[in-house]
Amino acid sequence: MNNNHYPFELVPLPYAYNALEPYIDEKTMQLHHDRHLQTYVNNLNAALKNYPDLHNWSLEQLLYYSDILPLEIRTAVINNGGGVFNHNNFFAGMISVSEDKNQTAPNLMNAINSQFGSFDEFKKQFKNNALSVFGSGYTWLASDNNGKLQIVGTKNQDTILPMNLYPIMLIDVWEHAYYLKNYNVRADYIDNWFNILNLSQAEKNYNKIRS
Ligand code: MN
Repeated sequence: MNNNHYPFELVPLPYAYNALEPYIDEKTMQLHHDRHLQTYVNNLNAALKNYPDLHNWSLEQLLYYSDILPLEIRTAVINNGGGVFNHNNFFAGMISVSEDKNQTAPNLMNAINSQFGSFDEFKKQFKNNALSVFGSGYTWLASDNNGKLQIVGTKNQDTILPMNLYPIMLIDVWEHAYYLKNYNVRADYIDNWFNILNLSQAEKNYNKIRS
């Protein structure tokens, strides 16, 4: 599986399509992964096809240095490369209901408690941010190089990489992420998502930044 550079490939889901039931339904996961993400992968590769100088660039490099990309493919790379980066992180950030036990995230929990007061207070702020993203986008728990956490909302498929921030966890609040199950009620989807949050992965993300 090559995902360091062009041609990018579809990363398989790390769990079954129905593994997040009843919080996220099987059909939504199928469409979200097999169609939406696949389309971003295909469109990213198509944009890069005639630019061999970029074929050894990582996804993170393409997004971080997007302002020096050739103008004619810049928007396509930001949108589709962002779509790949965001979805890969989003899908890896959830965990099968059957495996969702004994997750520990000691370092991240310490940081959350000291910066937000408590995990409940963090959840409240994160949910409010996710509700406030107008249209399509994401809400992130992000960290800077020093491990300082912040909650950030982004539009469309923008990423936080150009802000010198790194993802700890993120929720996709595009309607395609929840409309089949929750219709227009984004708040219910956000509450459900917290039940399948992969805290171990979030801890790994956080430890990697601090190391
Ligand atoms: Mn999505």
